[in-house]
Amino acid sequence: MTAPVLKVDTLCKSFGGVHAIRDLSFEVREAEILGLIGPNGSGKSTTVNSLAGIFAITSGKIVLGDVQIDALPEYARVAQGLARTFQTASTFGEFTVREQIMLGSNVTRTSHPLSSVFGIGRNPVEDSALEKRVAHILDITGLKEVEQKRVGTISSAQQRFLMIATALASGPKVLLLDEPAAGLVSHERKTLSDLIKSIRALGVSVLVIEHHMALIMDVSDRIVVLNFGQKIAEGTPEEIRNNPVVIDAYLGE
Ligand code: ADP
Ligand code: MG
Repeated sequence: MTAPVLKVDTLCKSFGGVHAIRDLSFEVREAEILGLIGPNGSGKSTTVNSLAGIFAITSGKIVLGDVQIDALPEYARVAQGLARTFQTASTFGEFTVREQIMLGSNVTRTSHPLSSVFGIGRNPVEDSALEKRVAHILDITGLKEVEQKRVGTISSAQQRFLMIATALASGPKVLLLDEPAAGLVSHERKTLSDLIKSIRALGVSVLVIEHHMALIMDVSDRIVVLNFGQKIAEGTPEEIRNNPVVIDAYLGE
């Protein structure tokens, strides 16, 4: 087992009187794929949004590497190495796939924010490392064949992979994926599984929320199960599959 990279400690998040998450603790380890599952309304998205800094948590602690990040704004968490997928904004439709991925890299770059696309204030050493990273990302996401196409013209499945590619370009320690398989057909889900495993092979940890049980069982090293905002089980896919508490929670859905 590898060392923990993301530590979530007694996290609570309430919306008014609704306790969306209560006393949730878990760790994501280095180069690990951790699946987060649970019935509808169990607090999965709230967990991811709390980690990403979309809203303030009610109490608890989130530590990435050695840095406590729960009070940091969203962009600062990305700069610390926590990335998540965004819906591709429509204004990006004019960029090519390659340019969009290059833009994703800018959050951690020291040179001009638009240098990767427009060549302003370039730093040659940074640029060659970036070129390598982008080439590899194009490769593992299967987007190489469309790298010069405009984002608005590629298929919706390719746009999904592009979101992941853009998040990866920031060079994260941990990547958060909230339902990456939504809307994908069977062979695209297979590509997604392979991609998630390739991301782990890069040394990046992945926290993946997914309804598609076959996919989560296939990709996850470990799984955390939520129900009514609390952790009810944690273990390997095999342990989770056979856990009566987990089976009960899903039967009640
Ligand atoms: P999941 O992603 O597991 O389906 P969510 O995290 O979206 O679950 O929701 C957990 C609980 O928190 C639900 O009861 C939901 O209604 C509530 N909730 C989530 N987001 C909000 C919000 N912005 N305002 C109020 N209640 C919310
Ligand atoms: Mg959700």
